[in-house]
Amino acid sequence: METIRELYRIGYGPSSSHTMAPRKAAEIFKQRYPSAASYQVTLFGSLAATGKGHLTDQAVQAAFMPTPVHIIWQPDQLLPLHPNGMQFEAIFADGSISEPWQVYSLGGGALGEDAAALRPQVYGMRSFSELVVHCERHGLAVWEYVEECEDAGLWPFLREIWHAMLATMERGLNAEGVLPGGLGMPRKAWAFYRKATMAGELSQRLGLISAYALAVNEENAAGGQVVTAPTCGSCGTLPAAFRYVQDTHHCSEDSVLRALATAGYIGNLVKHNASISGAQVGCQGEVGTACAMAAGGVTQLLGGTVRQVEYAAAMALEHHLGLTCDPVAGLVQIPCIERNAFAASRALSCAEYALFTDGTHRIPFDDVVTVLWETGNALPSLYRETSNGGLATAYQRRMKK
Ligand code: SF4
Repeated sequence: METIRELYRIGYGPSSSHTMAPRKAAEIFKQRYPSAASYQVTLFGSLAATGKGHLTDQAVQAAFMPTPVHIIWQPDQLLPLHPNGMQFEAIFADGSISEPWQVYSLGGGALGEDAAALRPQVYGMRSFSELVVHCERHGLAVWEYVEECEDAGLWPFLREIWHAMLATMERGLNAEGVLPGGLGMPRKAWAFYRKATMAGELSQRLGLISAYALAVNEENAAGGQVVTAPTCGSCGTLPAAFRYVQDTHHCSEDSVLRALATAGYIGNLVKHNASISGAQVGCQGEVGTACAMAAGGVTQLLGGTVRQVEYAAAMALEHHLGLTCDPVAGLVQIPCIERNAFAASRALSCAEYALFTDGTHRIPFDDVVTVLWETGNALPSLYRETSNGGLATAYQRRMKK
């Protein structure tokens, strides 16, 4: 598995697969053909189906500025290896056209010219069960294995990631008004936060966790800077759960960074053994993975053993199996924003549940990841980020009445 730097990326929302990766691909292509008179970009499958709502065209245009770009939308055609395919061509002043470049947005902002594109592999253990045995034998925590595998820049990198997450949250907690996109969705984080600070203990927990997640995901929906965890659409779950636990349990920043390392390993397992792409496996791969990362990290923050960390992550993923991706109007707003708030609360519940046990359970995390992959492949494309089914069509029907 590759470094967790490929999982946590700082970039601009609303979508790691539909804005961050296409923008990066456009920047690479522009460097190859800087003298082109114009560019032609064809978006296939899910990128075309929800690209307008996800602002894919704006991301690509921004990368090619000031050179003009012609975008062709092909929602009903797929390139062979992944639902998020793109083709780039450069057109020169004499009318000649470059070789087409086909590339895929693999989820979480990653790009690949083929779906199995290999970057340097830094983790030997691609199985959580194997890691549990290794850690128990040597008295290690998950984060210590991460530290062994990554380079010396790991902790400064994770500190930058955590600070970027908190900065997004702060911006989101202080912003008011309507989100862009035409749904008329008002931001809610600031009101949740104010009400939560006045509430009793029971409501305060739900109010604060929700406020934190809403703040991050509303910033994402507005095209603000976020950190993928593991994607833009699911970027609020982990920081919300971590911030709540850090505040209420007075955890040091270093312990939060160690939890981020553990969460990164968990997200990496799903990314490499299944998928974190909503276009490929539905929202179970995005918010489900985010919840597993958050649950495992929180369990560690609360003093859990490696076995309890693995159990919490397994539960968090298991109870998101089959979750569809059906964003209304192709925007990353309904159901995405609220879904992160619920996933952050669920992550805490999974951590607490695991801590009540000794971590023994029947279906290991690795098996849940396999089932996620099988379930994702069995989902009709209607439910894999095309906005052609589910809540997206329910909203369209309602608008027609
Ligand atoms: S429904 Fe889930 S997978 Fe789909 S765009 Fe929203 S957050 Fe991403």
